[in-house]
Amino acid sequence: NQTLVHPELVALVDRVRAAGEAAGEELELPRGPFGDASVHLLVRAAPLGTRYVLVIADDRTEAHRLEEVRRDFVANISHELKTPIGAVGLLAEALESAADEPDEVRRFAHRLTIEAERLRSLTNEIIELSRLQAADALEDAGPVRVDEVVARAVDANRVAAEAHRIALVAQSDPEAVVWGNEAMLVTAVHNLVANAIQFSPDGSRVGVGIMRRDAAVEIAVADQGVGIPESERDRVFERFFRIDSARSRQTGGTGLGLAIVKHVVQNHGGQVRVWSQQGRGSTFTIRLPEADPAAVAAASAPSARPKRGAKK
Ligand code: ADP
Repeated sequence: NQTLVHPELVALVDRVRAAGEAAGEELELPRGPFGDASVHLLVRAAPLGTRYVLVIADDRTEAHRLEEVRRDFVANISHELKTPIGAVGLLAEALESAADEPDEVRRFAHRLTIEAERLRSLTNEIIELSRLQAADALEDAGPVRVDEVVARAVDANRVAAEAHRIALVAQSDPEAVVWGNEAMLVTAVHNLVANAIQFSPDGSRVGVGIMRRDAAVEIAVADQGVGIPESERDRVFERFFRIDSARSRQTGGTGLGLAIVKHVVQNHGGQVRVWSQQGRGSTFTIRLPEADPAAVAAASAPSARPKRGAKK
């Protein structure tokens, strides 16, 4: 029954049979009977004697997907970099023509500093994200104490919290241990706490909780801020996505923070979810597999990792 085989494949086999020599082709075929997903195949066919045709299909779908992601990323980066670079150019011109007016010079110089800072954080985050996307498996993985990750991420946000009189409180749980890369996990939790502070009113509260259940460790970052409309909840994890990009541009948001969180968490075999109520607040929860106690014991044995104290 030929209906089970893609007609494009049948046509290739027919051609090879008729010509009596091998041929190859790149095909994009529908993945299933419905939906618009497709598979990319590199198909080669060669006659085997007079009765048979050998068909070898190499699945290139994943490579195609990665290529598309890369192309999008490059297009977005170019767009995001052009704005601050354009601003730097304009401000430099303005500075030059205002050379005799000290107040104006100071004002333009101040704005120039802000744009330079934007470029710096954008470049850093782009490099960070590219590194994460390239690194599939975890380099330098070991047992990581989650409350230490949380403590470091929170400490790095203390000054920002104090500037807005935001009470920043974190839980501690010495038993919560995951397998992974501590620096990456600190970056992820740091980004969530930084967002929680940034999108909250002065004088509110940001809490970081640690929970262990069902062989998983959850890190929940909760704020009492502006919240996220339901329609945007999935999109906030996309690269360069900002709900209010004009406001975010002023505050220096790059739209990469949550994309980095998602990558780190996925690299650790976990997932990140968001709960939110507009005007009431948001909670971002990172869920990671709990480390296997046997692996932790082996890794913290004196010969293997003398300095890790994550014993059970
Ligand atoms: P950035 O913070 O640099 O703009 P992110 O990727 O970290 O980029 O976040 C994307 C967008 O998601 C933010 O611009 C903001 O609109 C929204 N967002 C993230 N965290 C929160 C939060 N805790 N409360 C409300 N909105 C948030």
